[in-house]
Amino acid sequence: MQKIKAEYIWIDGSKPVAKLRSKTKILDHVVSQVSDIPEWGFDGSSTQQAEGHSSDCVLKPVYFVADVVRGNPHILVMCEVFEANGNVHKSNHRARLREIARKYENHEAWFGIEQEYTFFKGSRPLGWPDNGFPAPQGGYYCGVGSDEVFGRQIVEEHMSVCLEAGISISGINAEVMPGQWEFQVGPLGPLAVADQLWLSRWLLYRVAENYGVSATLDPKPVKGDWNGAGAHTNFSTKTMRDPGGIKAIEQACMNLRQNHKKHIEVYGYGNHNRLTGLHETCSIDEFRYGVSDRGASIRIPLATSKEGCGYLEDRRPAANMDPYQVCAVLMETILNNDIVSDSSRVGF
Ligand code: ADP
Ligand code: MN
Ligand code: MN
Ligand code: MN
Repeated sequence: MQKIKAEYIWIDGSKPVAKLRSKTKILDHVVSQVSDIPEWGFDGSSTQQAEGHSSDCVLKPVYFVADVVRGNPHILVMCEVFEANGNVHKSNHRARLREIARKYENHEAWFGIEQEYTFFKGSRPLGWPDNGFPAPQGGYYCGVGSDEVFGRQIVEEHMSVCLEAGISISGINAEVMPGQWEFQVGPLGPLAVADQLWLSRWLLYRVAENYGVSATLDPKPVKGDWNGAGAHTNFSTKTMRDPGGIKAIEQACMNLRQNHKKHIEVYGYGNHNRLTGLHETCSIDEFRYGVSDRGASIRIPLATSKEGCGYLEDRRPAANMDPYQVCAVLMETILNNDIVSDSSRVGF
């Protein structure tokens, strides 16, 4: 039979921002479920995951999709990292999300993540002049035409390979800053959305490679009067989606207010450069929520407010956040059942 190229993908121990790594293993048997894919190892001393004298780390396959870049029957394999002795590696944040997802399973939590990113060609955002700046932002968002959007061919190819692989991309759009784009993944349960977001990031970098372009998740790739890049995280539970769910959404906002600092800690490195209170953000030191308010920390979509049920949008996460950690902290804060009262709610 044809050999299968299995690309093992994992998250490394780089600080302050973890990176994706991958390498290929040739399999000579059919893979129909994740348990058919063997465990593998790597040199953790080259990924900030081990010391040189005992450097073996273990890759445990947890999720796989078709590798549309290489074609059938090749696969992309998302892995968790373990120490040689079988312990969860400290860089492995999926392990905790697994536990939390199981604990709160009956709430049927859904997540939709909006991944913003910026293309770079060399040291300049894609499409930017070699010297100076493009015309100020204002006309680029959802733009069309080679004077307004840059990199569309890569964006389209990325969307196609994701969809063909079975990744739940729900849309794309050109962003406010030229060279900046967004795709959305979800709504899906916590493990699925996080696994698929990491794989879709890997595919973005991989597809852009063929064009000599890089993509960065830096939350503020260009200083000054240019929008940063976020990863708005939309969240709902069954109760929130059912009639009268707005009560649970309000309660969630109160819980989120109480835990603002704890959330900001895992919402991405360098996020203070983005959450300034300008450019459709709320200041990192403040917590506000409101209906249809894109300057708030949490936005209740207008349709949710009108219908009395739906979801909330956490606008704080930066583009470079780890969805395993963000989904985990959202579920813990919102679903732990502690009642928090709030005297300063707005917009209802
Ligand atoms: P925005 O108006 O903020 O740009 P987008 O359309 O880019 O919003 O993204 C909204 C995301 O929210 C999408 O990924 C969508 O699938 C997701 N979403 C929709 N309904 C729900 C829900 N009930 N729970 C969680 N996520 C949802
Ligand atoms: Mn969006
Ligand atoms: Mn956006
Ligand atoms: Mn949004």
